[in-house]
Amino acid sequence: MPAKTIAVLTSGGDSPGMNPAVRAVAKTAIRAGWRVFGISNGYQGIFDDEVMELTSRSLSGILDRGGTILQSSRCKQFMKPEGRTLALRKLREQHIDALVVIGGDGSLAGALELSRLDFPVIGIPGTIDNDINATEMGVGVDTASNTIVDLIDKVKDTARSHRRCFLIEIMGRNSGYLALTTAIASGAEVVVIPEYRYNMPRILDLLATRYRNRLNDSIILLAEGVCDADTFIQHMMREAGEQGLQQEVRKTVLGHVQRGGRPSHFDRLLASRMGELAVTALIQGETGSMVALSKGRLTLVDLERVCGGKKAMPSDLFRLARQLGIEFGDTVEV
Ligand code: ATP
Repeated sequence: MPAKTIAVLTSGGDSPGMNPAVRAVAKTAIRAGWRVFGISNGYQGIFDDEVMELTSRSLSGILDRGGTILQSSRCKQFMKPEGRTLALRKLREQHIDALVVIGGDGSLAGALELSRLDFPVIGIPGTIDNDINATEMGVGVDTASNTIVDLIDKVKDTARSHRRCFLIEIMGRNSGYLALTTAIASGAEVVVIPEYRYNMPRILDLLATRYRNRLNDSIILLAEGVCDADTFIQHMMREAGEQGLQQEVRKTVLGHVQRGGRPSHFDRLLASRMGELAVTALIQGETGSMVALSKGRLTLVDLERVCGGKKAMPSDLFRLARQLGIEFGDTVEV
């Protein structure tokens, strides 16, 4: 009987740690006697036949590299049922028996659709946003958080030197996780996140009090899911009215540097553990699930559950932020 074949792809926004995940998937499969193919450019690579065999040689030297050697994309064709039917045919033509999808919530929704077509698939959460339901962490969150804290520390140096207030825009799509946790870890005074409604009078009051007390290096973190930095500064000016802001507010948009860089120890380990479990589970006949981190342990969670709910932020983070005196607004009424 010919060896069975597994394929792996990375999809959606890249995140540091995708390479260690690909490496662990491939090494585990090779060790089990399976052939492994890497599909380039996310789901788009299935349509374009961008499929190459992964060998020990091609995996060498990728563990510590940021981004994804397989490259990634957002693929419209895969969003449509007829596109997925074609993708399924393509996978079968390539004699691929099972697929590991590494990506964010959109990519995992795609994996769920494939499993509904009876194709064996397992997902690995790969995102810097930490917005994937049913897992405590996604691959890439730790590295991105460390990068952000490092950059905030640098902005603080200049804030202190010039007595300036800085507004720093942070990634995270619709989640405030990155902004809130890095606010706690960097000692920011204010954090503005989608989960809470910001209170501009209180923010201005806090900044004014600090300024009066010669604490003139205030940092505000703004999650991109709320609005962009320019819009927020305009709101600050409007609220300050004729008297204006007492202190100059400069903006810094961290941008895509947040995604890059060598994966941290945590992400390398998490990615390797998740990659190994994904393949071990697929070989044992598991399908339609995602590898998740729950209470520090790896588990398999149904993709139906992953894609059917919104990830809630750990509530202790809000309590902690409050206790530390970080201003983050009021509960959003539903
Ligand atoms: P990130 O969190 O970094 O944005 P993501 O995986 O959520 O990553 P998306 O752009 O949402 O990024 O999705 C990536 C790709 O997954 C899409 O371009 C599309 O090919 C596929 N995809 C997304 N949602 C679905 C869906 N509901 N059904 C089928 N495929 C989907």
